[in-house]
Amino acid sequence: MKETSRNRRLVFVVQKHKATSLHYDFRLEIGGVMPSWSVPKGPTLDSSVRRLAMQTPDHQMDYRHFEGVIPSGSYGAGPVMIWDQGTYEPETEIAKGVRRRITDRVEAERIASEELKEGNLKFTLYGKKLHGSFALVRTKGFGGKMAWLMIKHRDRYSMEGWDAKDYPLSVESKRTIEQIDGQSRLAPASFGH
Ligand code: MN
Repeated sequence: MKETSRNRRLVFVVQKHKATSLHYDFRLEIGGVMPSWSVPKGPTLDSSVRRLAMQTPDHQMDYRHFEGVIPSGSYGAGPVMIWDQGTYEPETEIAKGVRRRITDRVEAERIASEELKEGNLKFTLYGKKLHGSFALVRTKGFGGKMAWLMIKHRDRYSMEGWDAKDYPLSVESKRTIEQIDGQSRLAPASFGH
């Protein structure tokens, strides 16, 4: 089945990336590409904190499968880990604090595109580490239009004190970022993006 299949559920990925500084690249499939945010402290299940998320250029769908080392001299040089991945469903707010998940693929793409444009994305993640309802909200106050906040809605998955750094392994290879760095540097460069 083609990558763009209408039957496939919408996907997300979080790539832990140790470039100049460590961050987590959060990417959501919308309209055949992956709008992306760099989250310095990583996403969290703690609904009492807000994580800064700087919007970065959209990435190609294929890039979500990349785990390895971006060679020195290239933009973002350093190890990249598939820290979490799974599917997601956009949500719309049907009344104050009441959200509905969009399961129909065509409607889901339309809603997600609208919410991205409005700077107010709401969605449920079905990952290995990340679960439940989240929001990404564009801020007006600081950092220009690229600064967003990632927020965990309160639900049965929210957990006080939950921190990305306590979950250091790849969901793909069970390696740490240091292991990916060490092992991938021994092998011939396979970076093709
Ligand atoms: Mn990055």
